[in-house]
Order: sequence, then structure tokens, then C-alpha cells
Amino acid sequence: MADRPYLLLDIDGPLNPYRAKSIPPGYAQHEIQEGEKTWTLLLSQQHGVELNALATSYELVWATSWEHGANRLIAPRLGLPELPVIIWPPDARSNPGQNSWKSRHIARWVGERRFAWVDDEVSSFDQAYLPQGLVHRVDASRGLTAEDFAVLRAWVD
Ligand SMILES: [Mg+2]
Repeated sequence: MADRPYLLLDIDGPLNPYRAKSIPPGYAQHEIQEGEKTWTLLLSQQHGVELNALATSYELVWATSWEHGANRLIAPRLGLPELPVIIWPPDARSNPGQNSWKSRHIARWVGERRFAWVDDEVSSFDQAYLPQGLVHRVDASRGLTAEDFAVLRAWVD
């Protein structure tokens, strides 16, 4: 199973539909506090179920600005285990051109390994830049849907 593709997970957008106008069905609002900081997120337990099921086909990886906070603050609320984390360099967001600022760092991180990447801020430019992967855009007003999970299952089969 060493060569399972990675499944690279963004949080804000795919798992937290921050553009939703109200709480979508299946989601609950979470107030997450750490130190002086508070975040309000929408999370769906169904995402934890679906992602744990996909972990037989993919190696799940956090590809989010939350970095280690994803394991500390988000994973336990979704019933997910601790996952590998992509740590972005300090100047990660500089000069991405037409691509997502994450794309070139993801290219380096994944190497030759196949991967699927779910994110709300990707486009056809990122897909062209990362031809060995599936770059799948998720609507930040809906989060990951049953249709998105079907795409991820179909791609890996
Ligand atoms: Mg996002």
C-alpha cells in the first residue's frame, strides 16, 4: 500500500464551507478556541466518515493553512486520525502567478507520487501545472458533497 495516491485536503472551503449563507444540512457550527484565538467553522461528521473510508485507497494529507492546527483542532472533531501535514515555507504565498499559491509547493512535496487535491481556490491552471494529479475544485458555499466524493472514488479506482 506504499504507493497509494495522496489525498491532499484543504480545510477552509472543502471541509468548512465558509461561504455558506446559512448552516447547510448535515453541518454544525463549531467555536474553536486556542489561547487568545477563536474560529467559527462549519463541520460535517459525514466528511469524517467519507474520508476515513477513502483512507483505504488514498494516503490522506493536510494541505491547508491550518498546518499542524489541522491535527490539533480539526481532525478530532471529524473523527479523523492524525495525518501528515504539508508545512508551507514562510514566503509560500509570494508570486504564484495564475496558479494557487499552494501549487508549486505541492509539486515539490508529492514528487512522483500520484495525488488528488481538493481545494476551493484552484483552477484549470493548477490542473495544467500538476498533470500527474487530480486537481478538484470544491465550492466553498457547499463544502465537499456526495458528488465530490464520487469523483474521488472514481479517480482512484
Ligand atoms: Mg481553501
